[in-house]
Amino acid sequence: MKIGVYPGTFDPITNGHLDIIKRAHQLFDKLYIVVPVNIGKSALFTTEERVDLIKKVLVDYPDIEVVATDKLTVEFAKNVNATAMIRGLRMVSDFDYELQLATINKKLDDSIETVFIMSSHEYSFLSSSSVKEIAKFKRDVSLFVPDVVNKALQEKYK
Ligand code: ADP
Repeated sequence: MKIGVYPGTFDPITNGHLDIIKRAHQLFDKLYIVVPVNIGKSALFTTEERVDLIKKVLVDYPDIEVVATDKLTVEFAKNVNATAMIRGLRMVSDFDYELQLATINKKLDDSIETVFIMSSHEYSFLSSSSVKEIAKFKRDVSLFVPDVVNKALQEKYK
C-alpha cells in the first residue's frame, strides 16, 4: 500500500491545493493532509479551523485523512508508514524553498521521498496569501477557493 503525506500551512486551503490533493489521490492508496501545529508564520485561521475547513472540502474523500501534528512532518510520515511527502510547485520562485526543504527532509529521513506535483496552469498564480489579501478588501474570491472557505473568509474579515 502506497501512503503519501501532503503537508502544508493551508491558511486557508485554496483550489490550487485541492488540485494537488486530487491528483496525489490518484497516485497513492492512502493520503494524509497534514497541518503542522508549530508554524513560524502567523496564520489567519487557527490550526483547528484550517483542519476543519480541509475536512469539509474533502467530505467526499473518506479515504483522505486530515490531521494536525506537533511532530516534524518527516516523523509524522514515518509513523504512518508513508513513503512520500507531496509538495506543489507553481513558479520558479517556489523552487529554491522547496529544494531546500526536500534536501533537509531527505537528510532527516532518507527513506521518505519528496514528490513534486506541478501546479495546473489555471492555479499557478494562486496562493493562500493572495486570496487573503483580496478577501481582506471584501472582494469576491469564489473563483479561487471552495464555497465553505469563501464563507469562512467573509466571516473573518466581516
Ligand atoms: P507551506 O507553508 O508549507 O508552504 P502552503 O499551504 O503555502 O504551506 O503550501 C503547501 C504546499 O502546496 C506547497 O508545496 C506549495 O507550493 C503548494 N501550493 C500552494 N498553492 C498551490 C497552488 N496554487 N498550486 C500548486 N501548489 C500549491
